[in-house]
Amino acid sequence: MERADSEDRLGTWRENPIWKLYSVYGGGSRRYALLGTVATVLGRIFGLVPAFVIGLAVDAVFLRQRPFGLPLIPSAWLPTTPTGQLYVSIAVLLVATFAGAVTSWFEDWGWSVFAQRIQRDLRVDAYDSLQRLDVAYFTRRRTGDLMSVLNNDVNALETFLEDGLSATLWIIATVLGIGLILVSLNPGLAAVTLLPIPFLAAFTLLFTRIIEPRYLDVREEIGDLNSRLENNVSGIEVIKTQGAEDYETERVTEASEGYLEANLAAVRVQITYFPGLNLISGIGFAITFLVGGLWVLGGPPLGLSGTLTPGAFVTFVIYAQQFVWPILRFGDVVDDYERAKTAASRVNSLMTSDPEVRDEADAEPLSITAGSVTYDDVSFAYDDREVLTDVDFAVDGGSTVGIVGPTGAGKSTLLKLLPRLYDPEEGAIRIDGQDVRDVTVESLRSSVGYVSQDPFLFYGTVRENIRYGTFDADDEAVERAAKRAQADEFIRNLRNGYDTLVGERGVKLSGGQRQRLVIARTMLKDPDILVLDEATSAVDTETEALIQQSLGTFTEDRTTFVIAHRLSTVRNADRVLVFDDGRLVEDGTHESLLEDDGLYANLWRVQAGDIAHLPRAFLERARRRQAIVDEEWSDDIE
Ligand code: ATP
Repeated sequence: MERADSEDRLGTWRENPIWKLYSVYGGGSRRYALLGTVATVLGRIFGLVPAFVIGLAVDAVFLRQRPFGLPLIPSAWLPTTPTGQLYVSIAVLLVATFAGAVTSWFEDWGWSVFAQRIQRDLRVDAYDSLQRLDVAYFTRRRTGDLMSVLNNDVNALETFLEDGLSATLWIIATVLGIGLILVSLNPGLAAVTLLPIPFLAAFTLLFTRIIEPRYLDVREEIGDLNSRLENNVSGIEVIKTQGAEDYETERVTEASEGYLEANLAAVRVQITYFPGLNLISGIGFAITFLVGGLWVLGGPPLGLSGTLTPGAFVTFVIYAQQFVWPILRFGDVVDDYERAKTAASRVNSLMTSDPEVRDEADAEPLSITAGSVTYDDVSFAYDDREVLTDVDFAVDGGSTVGIVGPTGAGKSTLLKLLPRLYDPEEGAIRIDGQDVRDVTVESLRSSVGYVSQDPFLFYGTVRENIRYGTFDADDEAVERAAKRAQADEFIRNLRNGYDTLVGERGVKLSGGQRQRLVIARTMLKDPDILVLDEATSAVDTETEALIQQSLGTFTEDRTTFVIAHRLSTVRNADRVLVFDDGRLVEDGTHESLLEDDGLYANLWRVQAGDIAHLPRAFLERARRRQAIVDEEWSDDIE
């Protein structure tokens, strides 16, 4: 589905979410809504027949107060004996009941297919919008909240379309149908029977007002409880190694207690609803019974006029009882509608958020000749915190560049700007002279291979994971890439080799194995520019040496950035850029940087175990830096 014009298509959902939803997504499913509508109305008509026929039978068959006649059936066709008339009445009753059952099937089918199809399209569209949003959007939000939009909110809309719309129609058809029959039977008594309606409606609205904030509390509490449970299950190893089971049980107890309290507060109001409704309608029913009974016994009471036969009275009594049903469902429909409105506005805000990183109108595909990369006075901040300041350097095409520096120096961030996971606040990044913001995002990302610190595998086979992003690669190419990444051997040792399921719910691989699969994935992609962000940090030194060897031939003729804490990894790089606190502080080869005796030389000494010869100033700075990192951590945790 096209989504470029999502804003136009969706407009402001809050104004009339359901109508918007219908007009955007209902298109292909209108016939099902029509089927549902017709079946709902017919179903109601059939549902009203029994009470009408019973009343008629009482008057015509038992009391013989009027002739036996049925609407739409010529009287010549009807029997003349009371027993025959009773049989016909029962036959009509049965036919109406059967027809009601059939229409009910079509009603449910029509509304279900209608709602389910809209749900499918909406979910796919919402997901598609979500995955196009910036990485920054995801880091600012909890995964649980985004999942809740894709799941709960989309489901709430589906529930309203399936149950809410049919219930609304059902209510309208029932109220109109019963109301019309009652008025045509006896307008005076009809007025008495309909008397409780405004009271019931007012009571329902009052109830909704009171219960709404309590439901909100319940939703918040369940959100907290779920987050805690989710977090604890993911962090089970930490809980165990820290011996924090009791502490966590206590926290879960606290969250459960909050949920219980909120639920009870809602339940206290909720349980007054049905008794309240029953009370009002019960009093109304008694009044109808009293007025109708007096009427049948001794003529119209309370200044009313007209006749009331016992049969019409029976019909009245049955319909009067049925009149409570729509009111009962009205509360649910209002509730569903409120829920659907909130859900629609959340889905809407997700679908109309525009990514900042997107193609310019005149974007051209990136054209790589040499593969040179230039950072031109680049500064970048996460929210308001600057993490890169005036970074300025140019790298020749085909060279291998080591990026080193203390933790938190901004190394990963620097290279995330290259495939535009984020855009710089100031300055520009150019590949072969083309600003990355001027070329198409797709061509840029297919030219830049990125192996991150945290190798992520999708649930699927090893083969699918290596092929991820190069979907047309054949098996041979996949295996060749795995061999180059030193992964072939361990893959063959897995129970099903390349067809072993990995990722969440699959076989658990070690960090090093995962990293090698992701390296194989990138090798298969064969990008012009390669970014290795601590790509070999999780493997042992022996495997690292092997990977380095094959990476050596792989990186020979392509521009490669290697972020490494282990400085031996970048020792042979053509050039090493040293970062500290978001700034490029040193630039040279391994040898020249050692000669300069600056930050790089000190980091090298640390790794060589030569701590005794570190300058005091370096140690002081390291301590200060660590304190800042710790402070940021505690800020983040808060
Ligand atoms: P390391 O060597 O530990 O991986 P690094 O040099 O690669 O560190 P970055 O990961 O680029 O450093 O982080 C630089 C700074 O930006 C750090 O202070 C970090 O806390 C912060 N930072 C990183 N990612 C985000 C993010 N998504 N949102 C906010 N701040 C972030």
